[in-house]
Amino acid sequence: MLPPITTEPGTQLAALDDVAASAVHLRLLTDNMPALIAYYNVKDLRCQFANAAYAKTYGFDTQSIVGKNVREIIGEKAFRTIRPYIERAFAMERVSYERALVTPDGQDRIIEVNLIPHVGAEGAALGTFVMINDVTKFRLAESAVRESEERFGKFADASNEAIVFFEDGFVTDVNEAATRMARTAREKMLGCSVLDFIAPECRETVAHHIRSGYEQPYEGAVVRADGTIIAVELVGKAIMYKGKTLRMTIVRDIRDRKETEARIHFLAHHDPLTRLPNRAMLMECLHTLVESARRQSKQVAVLFVDLDNFKTVNDSLGHFAGDELLKRVAERLKHSVRSTDLVGRLGGDEFLLAMTDLNAPEEVVPAVEKIAELIKEPFSLEGEVFTVSCSIGISIFPKDADTPDMLIRNADAAMYFAKDRGRSNFQFFTSSLQQSAHHALALESGIRKAIKQVEFVLHYQPEVLAKTGAITSVEALVRWQHPDLGLLGPDKFIPLAESRGLIVPLGQWVINEAIRQAREWLNLGVRVPVAVNLSAVQFKQKGLVEDIAACLARHHLPGELLELELTESLFMEDVAAVTKTLNELKDLGVTLAMDDFGTGYSSLSYLKRYPIDKIKIDRSFIRDIPNDKDDIAITIAIINLAESLGLRVVAEGVETTEQAEFLEYHHCDYIQGYLISRPLPPAEILSWLRKRY
Ligand code: C2E
Ligand code: CA
Ligand code: CA
Repeated sequence: MLPPITTEPGTQLAALDDVAASAVHLRLLTDNMPALIAYYNVKDLRCQFANAAYAKTYGFDTQSIVGKNVREIIGEKAFRTIRPYIERAFAMERVSYERALVTPDGQDRIIEVNLIPHVGAEGAALGTFVMINDVTKFRLAESAVRESEERFGKFADASNEAIVFFEDGFVTDVNEAATRMARTAREKMLGCSVLDFIAPECRETVAHHIRSGYEQPYEGAVVRADGTIIAVELVGKAIMYKGKTLRMTIVRDIRDRKETEARIHFLAHHDPLTRLPNRAMLMECLHTLVESARRQSKQVAVLFVDLDNFKTVNDSLGHFAGDELLKRVAERLKHSVRSTDLVGRLGGDEFLLAMTDLNAPEEVVPAVEKIAELIKEPFSLEGEVFTVSCSIGISIFPKDADTPDMLIRNADAAMYFAKDRGRSNFQFFTSSLQQSAHHALALESGIRKAIKQVEFVLHYQPEVLAKTGAITSVEALVRWQHPDLGLLGPDKFIPLAESRGLIVPLGQWVINEAIRQAREWLNLGVRVPVAVNLSAVQFKQKGLVEDIAACLARHHLPGELLELELTESLFMEDVAAVTKTLNELKDLGVTLAMDDFGTGYSSLSYLKRYPIDKIKIDRSFIRDIPNDKDDIAITIAIINLAESLGLRVVAEGVETTEQAEFLEYHHCDYIQGYLISRPLPPAEILSWLRKRY
C-alpha cells in the first residue's frame, strides 16, 4: 500500500495563487506516482520537467535534470536505440516500446516507455511527454512460466506414463505415452470426452473424482481403441499450462502389479502343486459350510484322506513322479464330489474333503466308497503302472464336533484308526477313539527315552551369501538315531510328535543342543549363528522365551548367534499374543526367520505387522527354476516383496548353479541347499566351516 501524499512541511498552499498552487499539485502528484514521468521539448530535446523517480533513475534530482539534453541524461548508446521512437513521436505518433536499462546503482531493469506527443494550438509538435513503467517483475514472471511450460511439455513427451490434459471434461492435449496406451492417434483423442477412454464400470468414480478435484492416486481401468481393457492407476492434478488452469490426469499401467497381487493372493489360498485350496482356505470355507449347516439344521461330513503307500512311489520314482501322483489324486478327488462340496490339500499326501447337505451320517458312505474306488484305479507314471490306496477318517458336524478345527482333528484320529485297521478303508470317528491313545503313549515314551538316551542328533546345513560364499548361519536339523530302524529323518517323527504334543520336550532338547554346539564352535574360534526350527505348538508353549533365555545364559551364547525359524501358520493366530512373544524373542537379540514362505498363508499383512528379519522361500518354488514360469514369477514376486519390506530373503533347496545364478541375478542374496552343502553331522560341519572360515 502506498502512503497518502503529504505536502512538504512549511509549504503555505493557501498563500499561493491558482497557477502556483497547481504547479505544486502537479509536482506532488507526479513525484508520488509509481511511474517515471518527464517532458522534453522538441527543439533541442532538453528536459523541461521530470518527476523524482525519473530523475533518480538516471542519477539526477528534479532540479539538476532540467535543461539537460536527452543524450546527456540517458547516455549516447541508449539514445541511439531510441532515436527512431523519438522521431516517430515528433511526427505526432503515440509510441510505446520496451527496453532494458541499468540503473546508476547497477540494477538490470526492463522498462516500458510511452512517448505522448504534445501538440501546440497551431498543430505543430512542441515536445513529448515521457511516461515509463517498470515491467521487470512481469517480464521475469512471464519468462519463468514460459520456461516451466517448455520444460513441462518436454517432460510430458518423454514420460512413459500417459498424461491427458482436459478442460470441462474434454481432452485438450495428450502425450505420446497416452496415444500408445489408448492405441490411437493424438488427433483422434483431442476433443473427446475423457470418460470415453475409461472402462464403463469405473466411469462414475472417475467423473466424481474429476468433479471434486480429487488429487490422490486411485485405481481404475482404461478402454483402448481396440476395445481391450487394462488396469491403471490414475492421479488427477490441476496445473497452470499455457496461461490457463487445466486439469491433467496421469495414467499408469499397473497390469504387472495387479498380476503379482493376484498371484500372491492365489498363493495365499492355494496349494501350489495341486492348485487346490490350502489349509488356510479350507479352514475358512469349512467355517462357512458349518455355519450354513447350523442354520439349516443339516449335517456336514469332514473326510481326512491319506494315501497309504505314497512314500513307496516317492522313494522309488523320485519326487517328480511323487508330485505328479499327488496332482492326479487331486484331480480324481475333485471329480468325485459335487460342486458344493469342498476339496483341499492339507500338505504331504493328506487331503481334506467336506460334504454338505446331509441328514444322517450314513448318507456319506456311497460317496466315500466312490472316492476309495477312484483312488485305487491304476495310474500310469513314467511308463510304469501304479496303484495307490487311501485311508479315510470321517467326522460329522454336529455329532462329533462343532468347530472346523475339532472336526479336522477328529477326522484325523479316525484316519489313524483306519490305518491301524490295515489301511485302505474308512472309519467314522467314535468317542472311544479319543480314549485309545495307546499308540501315542508308546511314541511319547519312545521319544522321552530317546531324549534321555541321547538318540537324537543334530545335523547342520549352512546358509551362505550367494555372491561371495560367505557363511551367514547354519541350520540345525534333527535326526533320530533309532536303535532298530537306523537314522530317521524328521518327517518320520516330527509330525506325529507335533500332533501328540511331544514336540515340546524334543524341541527343548534341540534348542539346548544347538546353543551348546554354537558355544563350542565359538570356543574353537568359529563364530556362526545357529538356526533352530520351531514348530507352532512349541511356539505357543508357555515359558518358551524363558527357556530360550535360560539356555543362552547357561551356555553364555550371545542372542545374536541364535536364529529361530517359524512357520507361517503361527501368524494367523492370536495377533496380540504372537506379537508379544516375538518382541520378547527380539529383545534377547535373536534373529527371526519365516520358514517355508509361500506354502502357507503368505499374507503380506503379517509380514508388515510382525518383527520378522528374514524369509526363506520354500524349496518347492526353487526346485523347477528356471523351467517353470509360475515358480519363476512367484519367486521374483517374493524377492521383490521382501526387498520392499526391508527383509533378508533366503532361497532354500538350491541344487544347481542355474538356480543360484537365477537367484543372484534377481537379488536374492542368500542361498541354502545341496549345491552348497547337504546337512552334515557335527564333526563334518566343523571341518567344512573351518575350510571356509
Ligand atoms: P526345513 O526347515 O524346510 O528344512 C530343510 C529341509 O530341506 C531339510 O530336510 C533339508 O535336508 C532339506 N534340504 C536342504 N537342502 C536341500 C536341497 O538342496 N534339496 C532337497 N531336496 N532338500 C534339501 P530334513 O532335514 O528332512 O527336514 C525336514 C523338515 O523337518 C524341516 O524342513 C523342518 O521343517 C523339520 N525339522 C527339522 N528339524 C527340526 C527341529 O529340530 N524342530 C522342528 N520343529 N522341525 C524340524
Ligand atoms: Ca527350516
Ligand atoms: Ca524350509
